[in-house]
Amino acid sequence: MSVTSIARAVRVPGLIPPYTPTGDEIAVFELAYRNRLPVLIKGPTGCGKTRFVEHMAARLGRALYTVSCHDDLSASDLVGRHLIDASGTYWTDGPLTQAVRHGGICYLDEVVEARKDTTVVLHALSDDRRILPIDRTGEILEAPPEFMLVVSYNPGYQHLLKGLKPSTRQRFVSLAFGFPEAAREAEIVATESGVDPATAKRLVTLANALRSTADHDLEEAPGTRLIVDAAKLIAGGCDPQVACRAAIVECLSDEPEITRALMVVVLAIF
Ligand code: ADP
Repeated sequence: MSVTSIARAVRVPGLIPPYTPTGDEIAVFELAYRNRLPVLIKGPTGCGKTRFVEHMAARLGRALYTVSCHDDLSASDLVGRHLIDASGTYWTDGPLTQAVRHGGICYLDEVVEARKDTTVVLHALSDDRRILPIDRTGEILEAPPEFMLVVSYNPGYQHLLKGLKPSTRQRFVSLAFGFPEAAREAEIVATESGVDPATAKRLVTLANALRSTADHDLEEAPGTRLIVDAAKLIAGGCDPQVACRAAIVECLSDEPEITRALMVVVLAIF
């Protein structure tokens, strides 16, 4: 996999992606940044982890290098590799190295998916040394104060941080994210989608009803993302039942029995 396909550096001056806080996470993140501490964000899918990091990077005026981790991700995907063209071999920085070199924020989404040998490169960066040794080039990069490492994972998928040593894990300031309380989530859904407040409220009622059954029947509870997607379809003129089926129910399960049961909940609310 090419380095460019797994990471993107986003920095649009003046544009801060909207984020509705649910606690003290903004202040804690800012303090972690100022104290050069890495941050770990844990929480279910679609609860706003990525949006929060995008918001914080823009707020702090740092470029953001996002990597979606997976079990094929190699250390070279993060650090960089030699490439060959007509004129010979040349070195190209991976997203982690770019973030260290340019003083940006490197966000490793779903870090537990990455193999252990991949996350080893994070150890010296997340402790007091704050260095990135690049074996292939012999360089040892010292992270500038503006560099920050942020990782996220979903505790529902993984109970242990298999890739990170406990000593590394304990270097991170940890923020636990959950779903926002109903009124705040409805506000987020309305703002993100443009749907009217009453519909946003009903969608959140539906989400919470589905979440309360999720433990038994579903692999994972519906996140705010699914609710926002359904709201966008409704705001665009889609029938609410059709929108909820397409954007929520069919995304949660492939089992006809389960989708039928979920639609019963939808029909009770819309
Ligand atoms: P995660 O990274 O946790 O899987 P995302 O950050 O991608 O989730 O959130 C999914 C979507 O939900 C966002 O694109 C946004 O529309 C919405 N969202 C969730 N939480 C918030 C929040 N606190 N403020 C603003 N939007 C939010």
